[in-house]
Formats: sequence, structure tokens, C-alpha cells
Amino acid sequence: MNTTLPSFRRRIPVPLAAPCVPPRHARTGCAARFASLGLGAALALAALAGHAALNVLACEPEWAALAQELGGDKIKASSATTALQDPHRIEARPSLIARARNADLLVCTGLELEVGWLPILLQQSGNARIAAGQPGNLEAGSLVQRLEIPARLDRSDGDVHPGGNPHIQGDPRNIARVAEALARRLGELDAPNAAFYQARHKDFADRWRAASARWDQQAAPLKGIAVVVHHKNMSYMLNWLDMREAGALEPKPGIEPSAAHLSSLVAQLQKQPAKMVLRAGYQDARASEWLAERAKIPAVVLPFTVGGSDRAKDLFGLFDDTIARLLGAVQ
Ligand SMILES: [Zn+2]
Repeated sequence: MNTTLPSFRRRIPVPLAAPCVPPRHARTGCAARFASLGLGAALALAALAGHAALNVLACEPEWAALAQELGGDKIKASSATTALQDPHRIEARPSLIARARNADLLVCTGLELEVGWLPILLQQSGNARIAAGQPGNLEAGSLVQRLEIPARLDRSDGDVHPGGNPHIQGDPRNIARVAEALARRLGELDAPNAAFYQARHKDFADRWRAASARWDQQAAPLKGIAVVVHHKNMSYMLNWLDMREAGALEPKPGIEPSAAHLSSLVAQLQKQPAKMVLRAGYQDARASEWLAERAKIPAVVLPFTVGGSDRAKDLFGLFDDTIARLLGAVQ
């Protein structure tokens, strides 16, 4: 697998075993030897010595968590948004632009989820390596089977995405698909460590398969359960768990809940009841609690992504906690 190392050894007349580090850390003898190497060679040597880690910038916490699972100590991953932020709407602050400038790989959901801020961020970063279509850009949403692809595009339908519903992280099968592509991409960008990423992926995939089987089993009592959602960001989770969406607090995607719409929803629920009203940690509680009180059903906050609750510390905790909270509301 590792084809770069032997040819590299031939090109560079420096014993690799020597305790040599790049010039900025080096003492005189070592620095002199580095001076005789080209910059590219010095950087490659630094990478071999384990100094360089791949910088991964994710748009959403779930992809930063996944990159960390697959990349271990060979990467540094961070997320542009937190679980307590609406991923549709953030500001491209200077600190975020700096992170984008230094990123080797950008991993975003895509499908226009980040259309309100990512194009500006990419432009401001001036980092051509992470532009759309480049090896340094991975669009997770394009790797999975999409739900709710609109038959027509009309602004009056609200915040509708032409590529389908972008909130793909609610289904662990989607996480598995993205993991495979992400591991491959890390190996393409960092070829000397490709086998490392593949091994980590195998380990992750095995653990994920076991956990998914457990979640499927635990979630059996949720089958067919009708729920109200705040925003249409639970569709992949509901599809996975065979649950039903009985309505949404938003009259149209991205349009804030209105009194008129909520009243008609209460009337509708009297005829076709739902078991609970769901929202993500970043969404305002008021509409959900108002409806819960009128319809006499529990309001359930789901972590939605990594970091969205104390238990959702990683991707496994995210789904453990999600299932536990849903089960807690039907008992
Ligand atoms: Zn959305």
C-alpha cells in the first residue's frame, strides 16, 4: 500500500532514523541538513514523523465526530456549528473563516442545508482545495438515498431544498454510508496513512453494525407511532424507525410556528392523535410546549446531533440517547 516511502528514501540522502525535526524546531546540525532539502521534501518528512495532521472542518457536529472516529490522531476535526445552533443559519465569523482557510477537507451535509452561510465562508476562506468538486470537499448528503425530493420548487412552499430533505444524520444507515466514503477520502488526501484509515473504518463499521442491530431491537415498540415534529428535520429518523409524522409546528419548512397554524394542528390532533411532539435541542421550546399542553402529549427534546445532550457525546451516544428518549415518551 505504502508506495511513497521507498522512492522517498531514495531521493533524500538523509538517514530517516536521525532525530531530525523541521527547521523551526531544529538545532543547528539538523537545520543544516533540512536546508539542503526542498520545502516539499521537508514537509513530507514532517508528515512521516507524525507532525502533520489532516485538518478536517465539518459543517455539522455529526461529521466532525465521524471524521474523528475514522481519523484518530492522524486528523484534527472541528465543526462549524454546534448542536445548539440551527445548521441552516449561522454567521461566517472570522475565527470560522480562519479554520476554513487551514482546512484540508471540508465535510458538510450539503443538499443546500448550509446555503445561507457556506458559500460566503468558502469565498472568504480563499481555500481552493475545499471548494465544491475538489478532493478536499465531501458532500455527505449526495451519498445517501434522499427523502422528500420536491416535485416542484416554489418559494411559497417555504425553505424547500431541491436535492431533498438534508437532515440525513437521523438514520444510522446514512452514517454508515458516509463513513465508508469519508475513510476513503481521508486515505486519498493522506495516502501514507490510507491503510490506517481503512483499519479504523473497519473497526468503526463493525461496532456500528452491532449498535445498529441493538437500536433496531430496542426501537421495536416505536413502530407505527405518530409524532408531531417542530421542523421537518426528523424525517430520516422517522423513516428508519417506521414512525409516522402527523404534523409539523412550522406551517411550512423554515417558517416560524404561528398561532393560527398551531390551533389548527390541535384540532387535527383531536381527530388523529399523536403520541409526542419532537424538537431538536437547538429549537425554541415554546411552540412545542404549547402544543404538548393542549394535546396532552409529552414534548420530547432529541439531541439531534453529537453534543445535543450529555449522553450524545459521540455518534453511539447520540443514537442511544435518541432511542431512550423516544421510548421514555411512549411508556
Ligand atoms: Zn431543514
